[in-house]
Amino acid sequence: VNAEKDSDLLHIVHATAEMAPIAKVGGLGDVVTGLARACITRGHKVDVMLPFYECIQRQHINNLVLISTYASYFNGDWIPTNAYRGEVSGISVIFIEPSNHFFKGQSVYGGSYNELEAYLFFSRACLEWMQVTGTQPDIIHVHEWQTGALPLLYWDMYQDLSLKKPRIVLTIHNMEHYGECSQEQLSKCGLDGSVYATEDKAVDDRTIGHNPERLSLLKGGIVYSNAVVTVSPTYLKETLCSGWLASTLLRNRDKYSGILNGIDSAMWNPATDVFLPAKFDAENFQGKNVCKHFVQRGLGLALEGTSSGSDRVPLVVCVTRLVAQKGLHLITHAIHRVDELVSSPSLSLSLHVRWLVVMVSHHLNKLYLDAACNPIRGTDVLIDVSIINAGGQMVVLGRAPDGRVQREFENLANLYNQGSGIRILLMYSEELSHMLYAAADMVLVPSMYEPCGLAQMIGMRYGAIPVVRKTGGLADTVFDIDQGSQPELANGFVFEGIDQGSLNWALDRAFSSYREKPNEWATTLQKVMKVDNSWNKTAGQYIDLYNTLRVKW
Ligand code: ADP
Repeated sequence: VNAEKDSDLLHIVHATAEMAPIAKVGGLGDVVTGLARACITRGHKVDVMLPFYECIQRQHINNLVLISTYASYFNGDWIPTNAYRGEVSGISVIFIEPSNHFFKGQSVYGGSYNELEAYLFFSRACLEWMQVTGTQPDIIHVHEWQTGALPLLYWDMYQDLSLKKPRIVLTIHNMEHYGECSQEQLSKCGLDGSVYATEDKAVDDRTIGHNPERLSLLKGGIVYSNAVVTVSPTYLKETLCSGWLASTLLRNRDKYSGILNGIDSAMWNPATDVFLPAKFDAENFQGKNVCKHFVQRGLGLALEGTSSGSDRVPLVVCVTRLVAQKGLHLITHAIHRVDELVSSPSLSLSLHVRWLVVMVSHHLNKLYLDAACNPIRGTDVLIDVSIINAGGQMVVLGRAPDGRVQREFENLANLYNQGSGIRILLMYSEELSHMLYAAADMVLVPSMYEPCGLAQMIGMRYGAIPVVRKTGGLADTVFDIDQGSQPELANGFVFEGIDQGSLNWALDRAFSSYREKPNEWATTLQKVMKVDNSWNKTAGQYIDLYNTLRVKW
């Protein structure tokens, strides 16, 4: 923390499609909230501008008030629009609510409106609000393709109106989502789409030479922002070396940098986490066993013995969007593998038979586990015979936006969820995710690519040892216990290949380490809990960047 720099205070406005916990789909939501809070803690003024989604979690918004009624242009009309201000986790949030059908529906993405057009509208409506209210922040921080058109609108339209002071930072959280847009669609927000159909502006690099009609809002955002950040140093290198944006990024290399994401250390803190049945920290992690027991009971998993010896049952947790990027075939394989390890005769199993009374009285069972887990219904008390052995358990918490993937995992859930070792929970639950990280012995992140990845960082803070594939931000945060050249950094199990054998190699090492070296395991657990992956560590890099761009006024 550089206190001197922070005496020079900035006004930062984020324009974003997601914000935790009120409109979170993945890491983008966490990053906006965590970075905003870290900057506020350092004395800066921060506002987050967010679409007022119909599905927004209003119970987390305090002091919501209507602050302006104005009109913002879209497709030949001036759309009457409301701006509300509220407070979310101590952050000032401005909610943009158009009077048309945009942002209506039961989820953040995938509503019945045209998403691209809605975000084009939102990008302009943010600037229009600043214009009508005379708000001139030092920095407008945009994220992903959804607000990629904002820099174009700013430099080519609003600078000619009254906005002069702000400078624009774009953070790319995931290069795969490029915001494909036709010239005609871009024109709907009031720009002349044809102006941007050149290689040095926004034409989609994948179609150069044969389809100048197709633009990319992400590329346009890169070209028109004052600075472009991606979310880890390794992903920065990967994106400069390959991928469809590599040539654009190389052309803009001088303003392109990698800043590792952090986690919000207050939101993700096992010592104070309200969702946990018992709290714990690196000095006293008995509470972690309580959390594990609680999750095992609640989900109807076999309960382990009290021994710290070879009958300990490692619990692997995987909390993720179920999309190809996340290594679906490896997640599936891990389920089979952990189950195989459970029933493998080669593991000299010590079998215990226990009566497991599923705890249905606790409110968390009612709230989350009912919905998630078929065997637990209503207020039934289920008596089950569960077999415990020296194998493992695994819980997957994930939502699949693609119907085919959803069906595949439903089939797996049908196959496994009646047993005592595996639970596949196809849902989104912030609360359950906290409990699972706290209960986990290992957190699995087998991504094909991973710009930064928060699950491994959260897992570590909650005493779950990461088992990850070496890519992007995972390579910047997890260092193999057996292989690394810097033992002081060693904090997990890492594999490189995308095949099952590579995953087995890491998972098997983690399992045997857990069972055979409990003392070393406990030392590693303490060590990973103390690793500082918080925004307190990295927000300063953003502030330094903001300061280099700032125009003194
Ligand atoms: P991405 O942004 O690609 O989804 P990250 O690892 O950066 O991946 O961030 C994912 C975030 O979303 C983490 O906070 C993770 O705990 C959370 N998450 C993902 N899926 C779920 C789910 N089904 N329920 C609750 N939280 C989830």
